[in-house]
Amino acid sequence: MDVFAEKFADLKILRYSVPEFGKLDLQKKIYIYYLSQAALCGRDILWDQNNRYNLRVRYVLETIWNTFKGNRETPEFKQFEIYLKRVWFSNGIHHHYSTDKLPAGFAESYFDELVSGSKWPGFNFLSGKKLKIFIDEIKDVLFNPEKEIKRVSLDSESDLLRSSYNNYYKDVEQAEAEKFYVELKATGGAEPISFGLNSTLVKKEGQLTEIVWKLDGKYGLAINQIVFWLNKAIEYAENELQKKYIGHLIQYYVTGDLSLFDQYSIEWVKEQEGDVDFVNGFIEVYGDPLGIKGSWESIVNYKDPEASKRATILSGNAQWFEDHSPVDAAYKKTKVKGVSAKVINVAILAGDCYPATPIGINLPNAEWIREKHGSKSVTIENITQAYFLDSMNNGMLEEFASSVEEIERARTYGYQAGNLHTDLHECLGHGSGKVKEGVNTDNLANYYSTIEETRADLFALYYIMDEQVIKLGLLTSNDAAKAEFDAYLRNGLLTQLTRIKPGKDIEESHMRNRQLICRWVFEGGKEQKVVEFVCLNDKTYVKINDYQALRGLFGRLLKEIQRIKSEGDLEAARDLVENFGVKVDRILHVEILERFKKLDLAPYSGFLNPVYELKTWPCGKPSDVLIRYEEDYTAQMLRYSRDYGFLPMVND
Ligand code: ZN
Repeated sequence: MDVFAEKFADLKILRYSVPEFGKLDLQKKIYIYYLSQAALCGRDILWDQNNRYNLRVRYVLETIWNTFKGNRETPEFKQFEIYLKRVWFSNGIHHHYSTDKLPAGFAESYFDELVSGSKWPGFNFLSGKKLKIFIDEIKDVLFNPEKEIKRVSLDSESDLLRSSYNNYYKDVEQAEAEKFYVELKATGGAEPISFGLNSTLVKKEGQLTEIVWKLDGKYGLAINQIVFWLNKAIEYAENELQKKYIGHLIQYYVTGDLSLFDQYSIEWVKEQEGDVDFVNGFIEVYGDPLGIKGSWESIVNYKDPEASKRATILSGNAQWFEDHSPVDAAYKKTKVKGVSAKVINVAILAGDCYPATPIGINLPNAEWIREKHGSKSVTIENITQAYFLDSMNNGMLEEFASSVEEIERARTYGYQAGNLHTDLHECLGHGSGKVKEGVNTDNLANYYSTIEETRADLFALYYIMDEQVIKLGLLTSNDAAKAEFDAYLRNGLLTQLTRIKPGKDIEESHMRNRQLICRWVFEGGKEQKVVEFVCLNDKTYVKINDYQALRGLFGRLLKEIQRIKSEGDLEAARDLVENFGVKVDRILHVEILERFKKLDLAPYSGFLNPVYELKTWPCGKPSDVLIRYEEDYTAQMLRYSRDYGFLPMVND
């Protein structure tokens, strides 16, 4: 199987392999199959959440793609094709990462040609005049620069809801929404439900009301399908606890009752015995500038026994790591609870995890459940492996590493060090530390995500150079930690800037956190030249002169970041993020973009899913699940729209 599938615009499409799927026993294969069907059925929900026009735009673009009878070989048509592929990738009209509206890349007049050269059958309401009104609205969305400008705006100067064109709020101002949820949260007690997670907040006749996403509510047609497949999956679950939590999940989807989602999450955390696991629901809140509404996502996975040993060692030693961390004793956990970690292979990616996907999962998000019942944390082995295989051959290392030794170190140790960093971040970092009584995530407002990611990364960076990781057999050499420091600073100070447009600042939480850390240690160690920018042949490189001193700086910052989280020190959080994480060095940025451009690489990657086929012969009983990899990007996207397109184009 080829890892690389295709490349267009700023995107690269890769394939992940599903190792040893054929060797799983039949029950597990069927369980995975049904869960993967439940995963694919929620696709339209995310599209509609991302923007209210997305499903309409997709219908129009795909109809043109499927029926346009004109010349399909012109440069304009190629531009149209690229636009369609970008919309597919973003699950809508906004860039998946920057969340800016994607430029169409072709003229409005050409769009008219495409529409008139295509067939619009089967939809009586779209005939004639109505078709024109419908298309005019879509044209406005595509070509009017004032319309639907950005999906998620974090610009603190403006009303975040008015400047964000996601579909989570309707006719609601930021201050009203904040007040609404502050008042709701005040009723939540010590174990609050995740208020607002599964609803659209709208204003009706002057009153704020939540329209809940549930079986007989908004998104019900897709939820009905998800529930159908989850019910099938229950029969093939590996144990009683899995059956129980799937039952809770179904009831939650049926009723929209968030306390059932919490019950599901608690049982889900408890379940550690099975090999197959999944996430399916309204989970992450990055798509909402207020961090309240959950975007729909699903991942189905199974345990990678070999690599899981690594994570088991970490969680077995969690208390040692907590005790020896450089943070204030008052903010350490005296008993680290429920740190569960394993390494998994994904079998399907869906919703907000597709095609762009995380390399680790750490859930649930509810802080009190994490404190009281623990959390599950996984590293996705087959995805990181695909990335690594692809990255060794793209020329980035040669262009941005400061020396031959650095390149050698990366090739020899990059993979193991990168994996351990992710494990430390996910298994120990997020779970470590404790907050003062009465302090919660709201105290850090819109800086919370960045501070939390900074904390988990620093925990990993600090410990990856600890002798303990060699003793525990997690790394084979001290040079592996050096390779990780090289890679982290190279990325945080140089190469991640390739994802930022000229003149723009950094907005995404993980990117802010990486630059925050790198800029802070650079400034902190400036006098001793712990880290320096060097210029060779008119190119800027990052050189680390003192790895131990650098580790010390990571430790110092970790201590401060933990204090900020523990005390809910908003002012300090804002200062650190705004001073170190946001602003881009314009001159360096231009240079990095030029060097990167010459490599002709795509800054973002996403993944195709394999195709699963359920054999029901003889007698209609499931007898095997076959897996295939050869489906291409366009075919997969069109198939998903055709077979899993359950929602109407308008879901207001
Ligand atoms: Zn994280």
